[in-house]
Amino acid sequence: MTAQGIKVFPFSVGEPDFPTPAHVRDAAKAALDAGATRYTPVGGTPDLKKAICAAAARDRGFTLTPDRVTVSCGAKHVLFNLASALYEEGDEVLIPAPYWVSYPEQVRMMGATPVIMETAERDGFRLQPSVLAASVTSKTKAVILCSPSNPTGSAYDEAAWRGLGEVLVKGDYYVIVDEIYGDLVYDGFAHHSLAKLLPELGDRLIVVDGVSKSYAMTGWRIGWSLTSPKLASQLTTLQGQSTTNPAAVAQAAAVAALNGPRTSVEAMRKAFEQRRNLMIELLNALPGVTCRTPEGAFYAFANVKGLLGKATKDGAKLDSDDAIATFFLTDARAATVAGSPFGAPGYIRLSYACSEDDIRDGVRSIAESIATLT
Ligand code: PLP
Repeated sequence: MTAQGIKVFPFSVGEPDFPTPAHVRDAAKAALDAGATRYTPVGGTPDLKKAICAAAARDRGFTLTPDRVTVSCGAKHVLFNLASALYEEGDEVLIPAPYWVSYPEQVRMMGATPVIMETAERDGFRLQPSVLAASVTSKTKAVILCSPSNPTGSAYDEAAWRGLGEVLVKGDYYVIVDEIYGDLVYDGFAHHSLAKLLPELGDRLIVVDGVSKSYAMTGWRIGWSLTSPKLASQLTTLQGQSTTNPAAVAQAAAVAALNGPRTSVEAMRKAFEQRRNLMIELLNALPGVTCRTPEGAFYAFANVKGLLGKATKDGAKLDSDDAIATFFLTDARAATVAGSPFGAPGYIRLSYACSEDDIRDGVRSIAESIATLT
């Protein structure tokens, strides 16, 4: 539709619409001229590992040594390497729904079985300790948690983490926590890393993070895992037979991002908070739609169950979230993502990583389309 010159409201995007901060781009240009054009150590340059350790201490409040860090080509690659290293046929990997789509797919790709754990909107889509406890079996290899979450934007506060922690500390499986949206939290919400809150998890805890979202650096492809030194060395061996190192210049850019001023990160966070407030207010004014206020990330996860069963002016029945997302696209020119692929039928995800004008005009357009339903 965009190629045909049609204005499409971009509520489906999974990346900041801001440019990478200027000081990071400048550092990358300088690094290229200084020779960042060759292979680096497979698991990341010493400078980047050092910067990651410093950022863990500064931003997340825990001490980390470089031998625990493995840098890969984005957090998705990190998760894929972890899946390759850890899962095999017969293993079960516990994943709360709604989930980021790659989690269960990567588990399946290794021949292992994703075990989906339900959460409820009334619990803020947060996994309840009793549900986790009931899902653990002798086959459980890992649990994958994400806070703040894609697709719901919901996040675990300290009390929620401690509740889950009571179950997690009793297990013997890996606890993988994806903190890629950790810097994007609103209303003074405090993001807590399990590495700080539950040090007793020891080497079973794996933290996944990266520069993609907080620093508007999705195209640079830099993410990392924090693991035991032994697993870090195994991940590096694995990566050495596939991608080798992430691009040298991208690693130099990530060093500049992590070590540089935090002003642009904070400016982006504030802009997202304002857009979130606008998006949530407008969504909740739509008939048949409700949306909880998410604590973080840049997604609104709207309950559209009130639209199910309605008919479009062409007589088509909106019998699924997929049909609703398609209707919003074709009739309102608003690109959203259906909830079913995230394991959450009856919902749609709307990204607010776009301008306030797009949010206003796009949701108005959706309102006009909803008004035509019978
Ligand atoms: N984890 C979550 C929850 C995500 O939403 C994404 C990207 O959408 C990633 C990981 C992957 O990030 P990267 O771009 O660094 O691979």
